[in-house]
Amino acid sequence: MPQAFDLVVIGAGPGGYVAAIRAAQLGFKTACIDNFKNAAGKPSLGGTCLNVGCIPSKALLESSENYERVQHKFAAHGITVKDASIDVPTMIARKQKIVDQFTGGISGLFRKNKVTSLHGTGAFKAAAAEGYIIEVTTDGKAEEIQAKHVIVATGSVPRALPMAPFDNELILDNAGALSLKQTPKRLGVIGAGVIGLEMGSVWRRLGAEVTVLEALPGFLQAADEAVAKEALKIFTKELGLAIRTGVTVQSIEKGKKSVTVAYAVDGKDERAEFDRLIVAVGRVPNTQGLNADAVGLKLDARGFIEVDGDCRTSLANVYAIGDVVRGPMLAHKAMEEAVAVAERLAGQAPHVNLDNVPWVIYTSPEIAWVGRTEQSLRDAGVKYRAGQFPFLANGRARALGEPAGFVKMLADADTDRILGVHIIGPFASELISEAVVAMEFGASSEDIARIVHAHPSLSEVMHEAALAVDKRTLHI
Ligand code: FAD
Ligand code: AMP
Repeated sequence: MPQAFDLVVIGAGPGGYVAAIRAAQLGFKTACIDNFKNAAGKPSLGGTCLNVGCIPSKALLESSENYERVQHKFAAHGITVKDASIDVPTMIARKQKIVDQFTGGISGLFRKNKVTSLHGTGAFKAAAAEGYIIEVTTDGKAEEIQAKHVIVATGSVPRALPMAPFDNELILDNAGALSLKQTPKRLGVIGAGVIGLEMGSVWRRLGAEVTVLEALPGFLQAADEAVAKEALKIFTKELGLAIRTGVTVQSIEKGKKSVTVAYAVDGKDERAEFDRLIVAVGRVPNTQGLNADAVGLKLDARGFIEVDGDCRTSLANVYAIGDVVRGPMLAHKAMEEAVAVAERLAGQAPHVNLDNVPWVIYTSPEIAWVGRTEQSLRDAGVKYRAGQFPFLANGRARALGEPAGFVKMLADADTDRILGVHIIGPFASELISEAVVAMEFGASSEDIARIVHAHPSLSEVMHEAALAVDKRTLHI
């Protein structure tokens, strides 16, 4: 008789591990299956986010920003550092230490919450009298377990260009881009999305000549147009990224030590040779190995597991969350869906508002937003008022030496309800929370304008942006 669980979670990324912990807290006998192995060949919980995504990328961004500060920003403080240098292997080892601490921490959390952790690939074998038989395969050996309920949280994998499969020597995915042993002299990045810009920033600051090739005609089209314009200016003029938009990649040829990309842009054919090429053209849902067909689990046209607003799949008692279903591919979205599904299984009535998910790009300056962009409001014919305030006029930003960027608030012209907030500037990732809370509570720009904000703090820029909606800024 296979071991039986109330709940089996497949995948231990931020969606899966959080679902398993919350379900166990609620009294379910829970198992979580994960097949990720790190570069040392060891099982490592935490999925893409902890192993090769959010956490390691932020570690490298911090290291490279420190190097940038030493070289270009300390002098203004009167600090002289002679012969500053960067040792890439030390930087990578620091990143890996942080990753190992956090992934090991998930094992500890599983033990604390009595979640049974199984290493291997989880696949649907068959429907059972009560639930499903799940097969767990590790290194060729298979065992079966039984699950009353299943949560699929198998995440996503990088999309490869057919002409350039990843080898993680010359053509790199996110894992390769986070593990380079030395700074390439010439780095190509295909795709100017979040991952391409963050990885391009890291290696540019460490000295690489970085060229970013983007297919879309505009830069950062998902962001508010004013933010995208400011970002393009800063990333090209100050950071020194060479960003080409409207590019059609025609061929990618691998040599012994370099990669040559042929592409068309502005009606002209061009070629560029790179020592390393990062391909960051998006991610695809990971349903490989799940054996979804065996039980009739439905996928949509783009390969995502089809779910309703509550993450229910086409199968009774099977839910799916995170990157493997519709919605933004973000760790915090996966985690909130995880909690909501576990609580729904326990008879509660949670809700995740996908309209209020904050987006962050951890470049320098950071970019963060929540809600509607100005162009989407204009296109939809919504009447709105916009208020914008620059960090340049904020004392804390000046003291930090980070005066670039602004906060822009968009509010309904009739009701004044906040419809969107867009930030480019220092600690945008932290500042955006105020806007998320305000919007979740249905706040107006007037509400933010009348709340006391600490002085001197970066949050005063949010305050002034709210005042700007009503054209009554105080400090500009
Ligand atoms: P994943 O984290 O992908 O986890 C899925 C897990 O399931 C993996 O361990 C996988 O090996 C395992 N698995 C798959 N199939 C099976 C199977 N059949 N059996 C067993 N196990 C299986 N998001 C943010 O919010 N903020 C950021 O700053 C951020 N930075 C990022 C930087 C990079 C470079 C990348 C690549 C991504 C970043 N993301 C960021 C996105 C974030 O990593 C994902 O949105 C998040 O990891 C999705 O969580 P998930 O649980 O759905 O899936
Ligand atoms: P993201 O969705 O944030 O991961 O970003 C992926 C980026 O890659 C988007 O800006 C896409 O427009 C871009 N992209 C996708 N396919 C290609 C391609 N073939 N060439 C260049 N850029 C691409």
